[in-house]
Amino acid sequence: MTQTGMAKGPSDQKTLNEELIEGLAEVSRRNPQHAVELFGVPLGVAMRLAAMPDAQLDDLATTPVALWRPALTERLVRRLPEHRPMLTPDHEMWRPLVKRINRLALATFVRYADDPASAALVCDITDREVIRALQELPAFAFLEWGGNPGTLLAVPRLSDAIIDRLLRADDDGVESSLRGLLALTQCCEQEFALIRHAVQQESAAYRVAERTPVSKRSGRPPASFLMPGTSSLILAMLRHQMRPTEVEERMLATSDVRAAQLRGIAETLNPKPRRDKGAPRDRTRDHRDLWGSAHRRLSATAIFCLQRRLVDAGVEAFEAMVWAYDYYACTYDADCGVSLSRMLRDVFTPMREGADTHLGHCARCGVVHLAHEEKIGIIECPVCVLARAGKFGQRRARIDKGDRVEAAAMREFGAWPQPGTWSPARVGGGGAGSS
Ligand SMILES: [Zn+2]
Repeated sequence: MTQTGMAKGPSDQKTLNEELIEGLAEVSRRNPQHAVELFGVPLGVAMRLAAMPDAQLDDLATTPVALWRPALTERLVRRLPEHRPMLTPDHEMWRPLVKRINRLALATFVRYADDPASAALVCDITDREVIRALQELPAFAFLEWGGNPGTLLAVPRLSDAIIDRLLRADDDGVESSLRGLLALTQCCEQEFALIRHAVQQESAAYRVAERTPVSKRSGRPPASFLMPGTSSLILAMLRHQMRPTEVEERMLATSDVRAAQLRGIAETLNPKPRRDKGAPRDRTRDHRDLWGSAHRRLSATAIFCLQRRLVDAGVEAFEAMVWAYDYYACTYDADCGVSLSRMLRDVFTPMREGADTHLGHCARCGVVHLAHEEKIGIIECPVCVLARAGKFGQRRARIDKGDRVEAAAMREFGAWPQPGTWSPARVGGGGAGSS
């Protein structure tokens, strides 16, 4: 796995946000019901966007994380050369608009499909068959075929709850990095059930797997050769300030690399200024408590969500955590206050062992969030906490009919990807996602 192409992720996500939200607002203003049918948003959202001032639409669109999800199946990609009718003849008037959005969506998807890890992290495309189909498209596909499918290839992920949090009434809107964190963690109940189920399955599999106890042997010969994948994984861990002994510990089961070998590399990667004699050690990074701040918990959850995408794409869970962290830190926030070491110790390990760290879902914000067992009673959704502190928007006061409007589920797209590791049948899902 490499980092090529990742740095551009946020601006590509933003460009497609802009195109989609502009299109959605345009359709909503002229015919909200069409917006519901074409874009799969609840009617309340369409009506709201229709009346929204441009400044707020801009705020939404410039979120540096995708506010959309791909609506692709392998079959749909393979059938792109065919010109197909829109859902109803009434919708034909929107074909040029759909084509405009699809061209951009296709260009984006095809570019990231070159590297499946990037496709998962940037576009949330995790299905291997879809990726292969995208890779096999001819170069002119995005120019010529955008108008063909008669449906959108990317649909917005916007609910009333999300919009409430993303926007604030006063003129200094919600900070864009916070909007990004919310976009990364947003998740409807059905998706939440799937994530939780997948985590439980993984944890159960981990507990039954026969693991030969590995121990450090002083006489163990140092590794003389490492597979390229292993060495880039190790370098990523060192780059993110993990101590050589910690890396050795994590890698014991799979490799013979030894801390002694890593010390020199670690020194070169993170040269530390010499500490004056008697001066206190700098422990700020590792000692910041992940559970102690809503912002850190939200960042940790965002990284966790990225890890889930990589796992869906077939990356082994531990590696997925390292690469998800690497992507988040390199792309969004190198100083996010959550260290890789903490992510592994406080999130990855306890979840795999089925202890301490759990997932929660906030119906008020529509986000998934990490919670600690000991603090489960006092810790609420970090977005709610930050909203109370004025960092996110507040929920609007509900009129009587309001709740009913919100309960109107998102139309189910047959085209939504069904990642291989998800098994909706077992969690009793299969209903329309109500995000
Ligand atoms: Zn909340």
